[in-house]
Amino acid sequence: MTVSLLGAADIRRLAAELDVTPTKKLGQNFVVDANTVRKIVQAADVRPSERVVEIGPGLGSLTLAILETGASVTAVEIDHRLAARLPQTALDRGVPEGALTVVDADAMRVTTLPGEPTVLVANLPYNVSVPVLLHFLETFPYLERGVVMVQAEVAERLAAKPGSKIYGTPSVKAAWYGPWKLSGTVSRQVFWPVPNVDSLLVGFHRDPQPRGSEEERRRTFAIVDAAFNQRRKMLRQALSGIFGSSAEASAVLESAGVAPTARGEDLTVDDYHRIALVAPVA
Ligand code: SAM
Repeated sequence: MTVSLLGAADIRRLAAELDVTPTKKLGQNFVVDANTVRKIVQAADVRPSERVVEIGPGLGSLTLAILETGASVTAVEIDHRLAARLPQTALDRGVPEGALTVVDADAMRVTTLPGEPTVLVANLPYNVSVPVLLHFLETFPYLERGVVMVQAEVAERLAAKPGSKIYGTPSVKAAWYGPWKLSGTVSRQVFWPVPNVDSLLVGFHRDPQPRGSEEERRRTFAIVDAAFNQRRKMLRQALSGIFGSSAEASAVLESAGVAPTARGEDLTVDDYHRIALVAPVA
C-alpha cells in the first residue's frame, strides 16, 4: 500500500475547493509539511495493526501519515465540511477502504469510539487541548498511550513535576492517568496559517492499573482545583473552603501525611489522592 501524503499545495487546493478559511475559534492551523506529520507518527511509534484515534483531522495531513503505517484510524472532526471530505481524500491518496472511520462530532461530547482505539495521535485544537485530552483519558479506558502536538506552554505544563512554576492543575490531572514526557519541537513554519505560538510534542503512557476509582478521581480533582485556585496560599487555607475550616483542613492533611503549611504546587498526584482517601465524604 502506498499512501501519498499532502503537501502545502494540496492543503491549499483542498481548502479552496471546500471554501474553508481556517478559523481561530476551531484552532485550525493545518500542517503543510510531510516530514512533520511523519515525525509525529514516529514519536507515537504507531504499528501496522494498531487502532488509532485522531482528534481534529482537518484536511487530513496527519491522518494520512498515520494510515501510511498500516494502522487504522478513527478521526473525530467538528467541522462538517472537513469531516465530509476526509473519506474521499483518503481514498484518492491510496488508503484502502475500511481503514478510516470519520466521526463528525465535537470531540468534547463523544462518549464512544468505533473500534475502541488504543493510541491517540493528534495535532490538537489549541483552545480545547487540555479539556479534550482529559475527556478522552477519562471516557476511553482502552486508550493506552498517545502523542499530541499542543502549544509549547501547555505541553510543558502537562509534563511538569511538582515544585516548578508551571506545575498546575493540568499537570496533576494528567499525571492521574500515567507519566507524560516532552518528545520534540515543531517549527511554526510548518503550519498554515502560521500560528503566533510555538508547539511541542508531548506523549503519555497510561498506567496499567487505574490509580483509583472514578469516585476517588472526582474527589481528588476537586481537591486539586481548590488547591491551585489559591496557589500562593498554604494548603490548610486553600482547602479550608472544601473541608469546612482551616483546622479541619489541617487535620485531613496531617492524616494524609501532608504538611498543612505546604502549597498546592509542592504535592504529587499521590499526595492529592491520599488526601481524597482520608477526607470525609460530603
Ligand atoms: N490534524 C490537522 C492537521 O494537523 O493539519 C488539523 C489540526 S488543527 C490544529 C485542529 C483541528 O481540530 C481542526 O480541523 C478543527 O476543525 C478541529 N477541531 C476543533 N475543535 C474540535 C472539537 N471540539 N472536536 C473535534 N475537532 C475539533
